[in-house]
Amino acid sequence: MTKLKDKYAILDRDGTILVEPFDKQVDSVAKFSFKLGVIEALIGLKAEGYKFILITNQDGLGTSSFPTEAYREVNDLMLGVLRSCGIVFEAVCVCPHFAAESCGCRKPSPSLLPLHIREGHFDKASSFLVGDRDCDLELAQTLGIRGLSCATKDWSELMKTRDQSRAWCFERVTSETAVRVRLSNASAKNEIRTTLPFFDHMLDALFRFSGLSVAIEATGDTDVGDHHLIEDVAISVGQVLASRASDKRGIQRFSQWTPMDESLSKISLDLSGRPSFEFVGAFPRDTIGGIDTEMLVHFFKTLAFEMRITVHIELSGLNTHHQCEALFKGFGLALRRALRSTGPGLVPSTKGVL
Ligand SMILES: [Mg+2]
Ligand SMILES: [Zn+2]
Repeated sequence: MTKLKDKYAILDRDGTILVEPFDKQVDSVAKFSFKLGVIEALIGLKAEGYKFILITNQDGLGTSSFPTEAYREVNDLMLGVLRSCGIVFEAVCVCPHFAAESCGCRKPSPSLLPLHIREGHFDKASSFLVGDRDCDLELAQTLGIRGLSCATKDWSELMKTRDQSRAWCFERVTSETAVRVRLSNASAKNEIRTTLPFFDHMLDALFRFSGLSVAIEATGDTDVGDHHLIEDVAISVGQVLASRASDKRGIQRFSQWTPMDESLSKISLDLSGRPSFEFVGAFPRDTIGGIDTEMLVHFFKTLAFEMRITVHIELSGLNTHHQCEALFKGFGLALRRALRSTGPGLVPSTKGVL
């Protein structure tokens, strides 16, 4: 099993974790207070498996204008309170210079950050930086991670924004096909171009009902048939959905059924980590929208194996188009139910792991 890369919340201090005082210098306990909701948010992030790094510019630290003892008293108090809540920083990076000194370590420079962060050896898609200044957001951009501004948002709003803006990408290029997929939590318009219009329409239905949105760009050797393209789209979509579903904490896990006029899809999912696929049903027509109907079954089978989940599909009906709608919408709805958050909590398994 490959080790998952670590995901990080990289945090500014003043104006982000602590309230920034009128003179912008937290040099006494009298000026010390946490920002609203920060501790609760960090506890939530820790439960999601995030690691923490602090990076802060402390102008003139160690000079007469900002004695080290005054800084240390406040900083130790902050770290102590957070540590008591289980929040520990993997690194605390402090630039002590004034802007006028033109040092090389002042934010937005990433030079104080640990080497594996600077070299990008971490889960960039899930990681983010929170700060209240432009230099913070610039640093996020340099690192290639999302930058969230807490200048005008409190931490509970910030965490909602983070959920909405999370995205998972997958790219697969072979001698037969090229597929790029970007999946997002936001319920935005889907952008799907697979060169198979009917397939685009069906994938749009799936994601519209899943509560997720997707951008898919796929091309391939459709001159020899649609098999390679549909299969590789399924592999790629399966991979991003597997990433999306990898955090099992607080999800619903199980799902149920979807009718479309006379057609009915009964789709049951178990985000179990064990690939399994059962299909019972038949299409009245061999092709629809220029696609072999057997490829629709193959699509879901491939998806199930890539996502490493159990999928049972029973499909009945008299109209192939209705059946397809019921099938793809049903899968989207089933996915939505299975991924729905039931609040922070335990992994839904008697074994404690999925
Ligand atoms: Mg700040
Ligand atoms: Zn510096």
